[in-house]
Amino acid sequence: MTIPDVDRALRPVTAGYPSPAGTAVPNGTALPAGTALPGSAADPAGGGTTAPPHPQSAPQSAPQSPSDPAAPPGGFSPELARRDVPILHRTVNGHPLVWLDNGATTQKPRQVIEALSGFYGAANSNIHRGAHTMAREATEMYEAGRAAVARFLGAASPDDIVFVRGTTEAINLVAQSWGRSHLGPGDDILVPVLEHHSNIVPWQLLAKETRARVVPVPLGPDGGIDLDAYADLLSVRTRLVAVSQASNVLGTVPPVREMTALAHRYGAKVLVDGAQAVAHFPVDVQALDADFYVFSGHKLFAPTGIGALYAKPEILGDMAPWQGGGNMIESVDFSHTTYAPVPHRLEAGTGHIAGVVGLLAALNWLTSFDRQAVAAYETSLMAYAQHTLAAVPGLELLGSAPDRIAVLTFTLAGHDPAAIAEWLDRDGIAVRAGHHCAQPALAHYGLTSAARASLALYNTPEEVDQLAASLLRLQQDT
Ligand code: PMP
Repeated sequence: MTIPDVDRALRPVTAGYPSPAGTAVPNGTALPAGTALPGSAADPAGGGTTAPPHPQSAPQSAPQSPSDPAAPPGGFSPELARRDVPILHRTVNGHPLVWLDNGATTQKPRQVIEALSGFYGAANSNIHRGAHTMAREATEMYEAGRAAVARFLGAASPDDIVFVRGTTEAINLVAQSWGRSHLGPGDDILVPVLEHHSNIVPWQLLAKETRARVVPVPLGPDGGIDLDAYADLLSVRTRLVAVSQASNVLGTVPPVREMTALAHRYGAKVLVDGAQAVAHFPVDVQALDADFYVFSGHKLFAPTGIGALYAKPEILGDMAPWQGGGNMIESVDFSHTTYAPVPHRLEAGTGHIAGVVGLLAALNWLTSFDRQAVAAYETSLMAYAQHTLAAVPGLELLGSAPDRIAVLTFTLAGHDPAAIAEWLDRDGIAVRAGHHCAQPALAHYGLTSAARASLALYNTPEEVDQLAASLLRLQQDT
């Protein structure tokens, strides 16, 4: 799928910056010494076009990506994505990089890198205020970004989208704006135990201020939400349910649509944290009937510092400003100030304009693939990874809920998670170790720390093999 007005908006930005044939990064991008660009002589993959050797991990029946002639008959291939992402072709500690820290942040395709550099090189301007060509162009791109986000999420209108720094800021915005005026003493905010700290702490701050309660919703042994307990905890006191569409530590994909329908029976609103979901499967906020939906661009192949909040128009329209400043007012007078309509009312100050341009490029890139085929590929890669890692003695995977994204959080008997990550790093394999900003989820398993490999569409079965082989060597060495 292409987004025509996104293309149109980006054209003036990228027009002055044609990509030199065979070069995956724009001029001026400094890469660390020893980095091999795709297609260069130093690139051992000769442009990264090796096919996965594990047919069981590549879906045979998934539809072909219509936009790309290189798509293999019958399905998505990670090479379609890899060839666009220059950083995946560098080396780390003398080994080709194996980036398995996508839950923390994703790597950027050259389309995003070039859009950013093109914006600053040829189109930089503040938006809305100026009456000159550059300001008009920048405004057009910014608003095209809003329209693209609305389409990406299945929202009815671009006006339902507020730009923010990311998921964390979006949740704090909802807590401070909507929460302050809708919660009071004795009200409940239901929060599943698997949530990221950024979907727990803002509610704790709000609860303290309003004398509401944050009520944890327990997990079952498989790391899924205990839905019976959830149904029992819901009551007329429940004002809000805050739930992730995918857990960053257990990979669990809760039945958000059903949970939302149940919450609505009690008149509660539902905020869905889509930080870990958006890169993995298509989202439709209207089908979910979510009242709020939030995500971060950087987990979606876009730059850091840009993300979005969706809210139903009747809820958003009623939300008071949470920060004051330029861009969010209609008129200012020392006796009386009036505010702009939403979404601008909630976007005080100069936004991350280049970030929106980068987000546009990332959405354009991601949606150029057949997303169902990508999701099917990731599911099969996850199954392959579970199977492969199970052969490592002493390795235990956390979470076994039936619906999961490709996140593998694990412990390895006799090894501290931080030491595991250090060991893997020597082989050029990037995984995360620690509490993953989800301490209650780890505590559910009696843990304070674990290692995590989180996969994305550009990861391959060979990379999973390298992870398993390195872990096996670690076990054998000790
Ligand atoms: N929620 C979830 C499920 C996450 O995985 C993350 C990031 N790890 C966040 C929220 C916070 O995202 P950000 O730091 O981009 O605001």
